Amino acid sequence: MIIILEPNITQESKEFKDLMEYLKRFPHLQIKVMEHKGVTRSLIEVHLIGEDYMVSQEEIENLPGVEKAIKVTAKYRLLGRHGALTDFGFEYKGLQFSQESFHIFAGPCAVDTYENTEAIFRALKEVGLCCARMGAYKPRTSPYDFQGHGKACLPWLFDLAGKYGIKVIAMEVLAPHHIEEIQEALEDAGHPCGIILQIGTRNAQNFELLKAVGKQQDFPVLYKRGFGLSLEECLNAAEYIASEGNTKIIFCLRGVRTHLGDPHRNLVDFAHVPVVKRLTRLPVCIDPSHPIGSKVKAPDGIRDIYHVTAQGVIAGANAILVEFHPQPEKALCDGPQSLPLTELPLFLEFVQKVRETYLDLKKLV
Ligand code: PEP
Ligand code: MN
Repeated sequence: MIIILEPNITQESKEFKDLMEYLKRFPHLQIKVMEHKGVTRSLIEVHLIGEDYMVSQEEIENLPGVEKAIKVTAKYRLLGRHGALTDFGFEYKGLQFSQESFHIFAGPCAVDTYENTEAIFRALKEVGLCCARMGAYKPRTSPYDFQGHGKACLPWLFDLAGKYGIKVIAMEVLAPHHIEEIQEALEDAGHPCGIILQIGTRNAQNFELLKAVGKQQDFPVLYKRGFGLSLEECLNAAEYIASEGNTKIIFCLRGVRTHLGDPHRNLVDFAHVPVVKRLTRLPVCIDPSHPIGSKVKAPDGIRDIYHVTAQGVIAGANAILVEFHPQPEKALCDGPQSLPLTELPLFLEFVQKVRETYLDLKKLV
C-alpha cells in the first residue's frame, strides 16, 4: 500500500513523525519512506505482511496527515499511474520533463571530431535548441568497429556544450564506472551542462546497470526499450531504476526486431506512446533514427525519418532523440540513418507543425 501524505506534510513535521510512530506499532507492517524529489507529495510505502492486516486502508486514511492510501499491485509500483499519482514529472537544469513537456535531443550517434561537435552545438544554438544527444561510449555489434572516444572526449565536449548554451546532453553509459567518469569530468569542467544517462537497447535488462543508474541521484535516466523485449518487461526494467530511488526517468521507444524482414532495421513501435503514458507516469521519448537504421539511405530512404517522427509526435511523444551529423557519409557510427545537419531547421519546423497538430487533435479525444 502506498500512503500519500497531504502536500504540506514534510518528513520533518510533527504529523509525519506521529504517523510513523503509529504505523510502527504494527509489527506486520514494513515501512519504507520513499524520497521522491520530483514529486510534489511525500510517499510512504507500507508493505502489509500476512492475511490479517489488523489495520485497514480506511483506518490509515483517517490518520492525521494522510491524504490518501492506495493499494498498489506489485506491477510498476512506483512508476505506475495508480489513481491519484498522476502528477509525476521532474525538473532538470531548468527544463521540465513530464507527460506534457516536449524536447528534442539532436546530435550524432557518436562524438567524433572537435570540429564536428562544435558545428552541431552551433547549429542547435542557432535554431534555439538546448538539448543534444552525444555518444562517448558506444556498444557496437563488432569489436572492430569504432567504440567511441570514451572519457577522453568528455573535457572538451563539456567545454563546448557550455560555450553554446547546451543545457542537457543525453549520453549512453554501458557500465557503472562510466557514470563516475562523467561525474568527474563534469566537476573538472565546472558543470557547464547537465547529463541524462542513456540506457541503450542492448542493456535494457542489465539489472546491475539499471540499479546503478537508479542509486545515483545526480542524473536523470533515459531508458530505451529492449529491441526484443515486451513492453511489460521494459516497464519492469524501468521500475528497477525507480526502486533504487531515482524516479527521474524518461521512457524511450526505439523500434523492435521482428522476423518479418522489415524494410527498416526495426519495426516502429510508436503506437505504444499512449500506452506507456496510460500505464505509467513517465514522459515518453521516441527515437526515429534507430528503427530506420542503415537500411535506408539518402536521398530518398532517409525521408522516412520525417514520417516516422510524425507518427511518434502525433501519438503524444514528450521528446525526440534523433541523429544528425554534419557529414553523415563520414560519421564513425550510424551515418546512413543520420540526417544532415543542414536539415536541422527543416526538421524543427516539421516537428513543430506536427506537435501543434497533436495539441489540437488532443482536444477532440
Ligand atoms: C543510440 O542511441 O545511439 C543507440 C545505440 O540506440 P539503441 O540503444 O536504441 O540502439
Ligand atoms: Mn546510433
